[in-house]
Amino acid sequence: MEKIAVLGTGYVGLVTGAGLADFGNEVTCVDLDAAKIEVLKSGKIPFYEFSLGEVVQRNVHEGRLSFTSDLPSAIKGARTIFIAVGTPPGAGGEADLSQVFSAARTIAEQMTSYKLIVQKSTVPVGTGEKVLRLVEKVLAERGKSIAFDVASNPEFLREGSAVEDFMRPDRIVIGTWSPKAEQILSDIYQRFYLNETPMIRTTVQTAELIKYASNAFLATKISFINEMANLCEVVGGDVKVVARAMGLDGRIGRKFLHAGPGYGGSCFPKDTLALASFSRKAGSPSKIVEAAIEVNKRQRRRMLDKVRDVVGGSLSGKQIAVLGLSFKPQTDDVRDSVAIDLIKAMQKEGARIRAFDPVAMERAAAELKNVQFAEDSYSAAEGADALVIATEWNEFRTLDLGKLLKLMRSPAVVDCRNIYDPAVMEQAGFRYMGVGRSQYSPDRSHDPANSKSSKASAKKKGSGKRVGAASNGVPAAARKKA
Ligand code: NAD
Repeated sequence: MEKIAVLGTGYVGLVTGAGLADFGNEVTCVDLDAAKIEVLKSGKIPFYEFSLGEVVQRNVHEGRLSFTSDLPSAIKGARTIFIAVGTPPGAGGEADLSQVFSAARTIAEQMTSYKLIVQKSTVPVGTGEKVLRLVEKVLAERGKSIAFDVASNPEFLREGSAVEDFMRPDRIVIGTWSPKAEQILSDIYQRFYLNETPMIRTTVQTAELIKYASNAFLATKISFINEMANLCEVVGGDVKVVARAMGLDGRIGRKFLHAGPGYGGSCFPKDTLALASFSRKAGSPSKIVEAAIEVNKRQRRRMLDKVRDVVGGSLSGKQIAVLGLSFKPQTDDVRDSVAIDLIKAMQKEGARIRAFDPVAMERAAAELKNVQFAEDSYSAAEGADALVIATEWNEFRTLDLGKLLKLMRSPAVVDCRNIYDPAVMEQAGFRYMGVGRSQYSPDRSHDPANSKSSKASAKKKGSGKRVGAASNGVPAAARKKA
């Protein structure tokens, strides 16, 4: 059993603290935000994360997990201190490390015995070294000679399935510079030996880089499939089928190959920017990551173009229903959410917005102005000139299309997440735009004798018509030329 303090009770800190307590450690979760700590002490979770409340309650009840805003006492009472504070993007895209350094300084100012300082926050390569120097400097100023270690233990959890990801990780990365630090971290994570979770033991620098390399690779996968989606819209093709076929190749894999409005959230946008920034500074710029960022920006703008197109060219005075505000389903996190960006852009062009999200409306309200929040999807859609599906919450997958059709002023849908079948939507009477789904007639028979009758029968069956962005079976690019 290790005595642990976790600095920062955000999505990562709270899950880490609760998870480590669940492994049998004695954990104190600390936050500078006293209001957050009060919420936690009252038995509530300050944000929405599936099943986190259960784990927190269990461990509080069994006396392994506690909360405080008293940093000095939490630091003194722990041997291992995890830093899980925010690392938001700075003005030039680089990671703003002020919270990390402030936390490290407080540790150095308060420590009276050996500490293992573990970096859980996502930080650029070289931050561990800087933290080490900072702690040394503060200890020297205090005239103290106290042993300590710095380690990197990046977190790979995904919001929405954070508890499951923490409890059943694909791998654990332990970056250390001393056998003692490696041993302490190995002991903390020993329960993972039982289910043979791969344990990567390496240096602090390599561990720091692994986190950025992983996130940047996933972001690049998303940008890549979004480029393929855009190509599909021009040449006539269905990116869902392309992605499925690609993903069945074991070398490629199916995950993160979903075309959509571009990546958002609190990690990918900032981590790709930070990696691009520190790679440039290191004299080894990453062209691929720079391109992934550029493609992502463009993809977000394309969603605005789609909504404008589907309502006939101008958003001025149009009523738009937006379903989904969080950056992904199963979370109320709206940081860098595509939906929020899109709403602001549509408002700039004169659109009126009525939005619905199952859990994120309160947080979204703090980011948005002049948005009407609806009680459910149908009241959001009432009288709308178009409906935009911005986040793929499960409940949006099974909307009553007939009811929607009756409620909307104009039956137009922009499905930024490709959760509907274009043919089904068109049959239901909607003007539908997905992302990269401009497939057109498969009826390309070269038998002249049959061509007339086959065309007639195709028409009869309703097949051979276009779905998605192309029209009359003709890809968009060809139509433009005509
Ligand atoms: P967050 O903003 O939700 O939480 C950070 C918390 O730290 C806040 O509550 C803040 O009040 C607190 N804090 C700041 N300075 C402090 C200090 N000196 N002492 C104590 N508390 C302090 O952040 P998050 O989403 O949990 O992310 C934390 C880190 O983990 C970031 O570096 C992020 O990139 C990384 N990460 C996030 C995710 C994710 O899905 N959110 C996944 C993996 C890694």
